[in-house]
Amino acid sequence: MSKPLILVVEDDPSVRNLIVTTLKANEYSFIAAGSGEEGASQAATHNPDIILLDLGLPDIDGVEVIKQVRGWAITPIIVISARSDDSDKIAALDAGADDYLTKPFSVEELLARLRATQRRLAYMNSASSSSVFENGGLKIDYAAGCVYLDGEELHLTSIEYKLLCLLAQNVGKVLTHKFITGNVWGTSWDNDIASLRVFMATLRKKLESADSERQYIQTHIGVGYRMVRL
Ligand code: CA
Repeated sequence: MSKPLILVVEDDPSVRNLIVTTLKANEYSFIAAGSGEEGASQAATHNPDIILLDLGLPDIDGVEVIKQVRGWAITPIIVISARSDDSDKIAALDAGADDYLTKPFSVEELLARLRATQRRLAYMNSASSSSVFENGGLKIDYAAGCVYLDGEELHLTSIEYKLLCLLAQNVGKVLTHKFITGNVWGTSWDNDIASLRVFMATLRKKLESADSERQYIQTHIGVGYRMVRL
């Protein structure tokens, strides 16, 4: 199997070096760009497997790069942002980014995100045509509209079911509050986000009642939710 090709778009040389050194030491191939324009053009030329993208770039904004790339590719994009920039992170996820890393991050964190993204890619490639979703003890039969947890049918309200299906179809990806409410309710008012918290709490309770150690849904405070691939 060939090494996955990672495109690194980061203008800060010290962060770029850290990433590139880590990739070299861990069986990845890479290309690097120091600006948004260069990053978008490298993405088009080399068709990388995963893009690591800094949001604060000297020429065009990282979110603009995501929009450009999303015009023609579904390549997973992990954005790198400063700790304080929740709104940037949310804009990046809404523009089509898959995940984020917050600076400063550790080498272990970077590698874990890359592995999770590779798993998600492999899963998406194998499961795209399947009508049944399975993750740990969770099984969704889309055709029958039934959910099972460890073989027992789980009784969900229609909103809980919609939420669960949306998370499952995007397993491994962080979904913003706006994305979720837009898909489930068709709108994204503050009221919907408050309702979302309530529905998500009851859904998690049902999912985690059998085994509280097993967390299917991660909360990203101020950002959204993600279903974890177990
Ligand atoms: Ca930067």
